[in-house]
Amino acid sequence: MSKSHISAKLRKLVSDRAQNCCEYCLIPESLTLVSHQVDHVIAEKHGGKTTEENLALSCSLCNQAKGSDIASIDVETGEVIRLYHPRQDQWQEHFQMEECVIYPLTAIGRVTTQLLKINLSACLPYRKMLAQAKILIQK
Ligand SMILES: [Zn+2]
Repeated sequence: MSKSHISAKLRKLVSDRAQNCCEYCLIPESLTLVSHQVDHVIAEKHGGKTTEENLALSCSLCNQAKGSDIASIDVETGEVIRLYHPRQDQWQEHFQMEECVIYPLTAIGRVTTQLLKINLSACLPYRKMLAQAKILIQK
């Protein structure tokens, strides 16, 4: 969803920092058919910059579902809640992975799993395969 050019150096930094895994659903790039993408956590149209602090590695499915959104409505409370921010939040504070399904632990986790369709995505079979191989990254 980015408009700004992302240099090869910046893309490498983002990929290395994420250990080549999607920073939302944790799928490793090596297991996806489409390359992971550099996501503007806060989209440029909302004033997000093309800087290390605002970039995250995202699989194509999470990135497509997220689009330029920065928040969603929590179904439990009806409140507008911001999405998970990979640079400012800790994954394990907001999500928990059990038997390959990602469960939200907080309102932020809830709106993010909902909006990004994290458990409906084509990533699920890959996560199951990984879990069987016990090579899921431990964040
Ligand atoms: Zn993902």
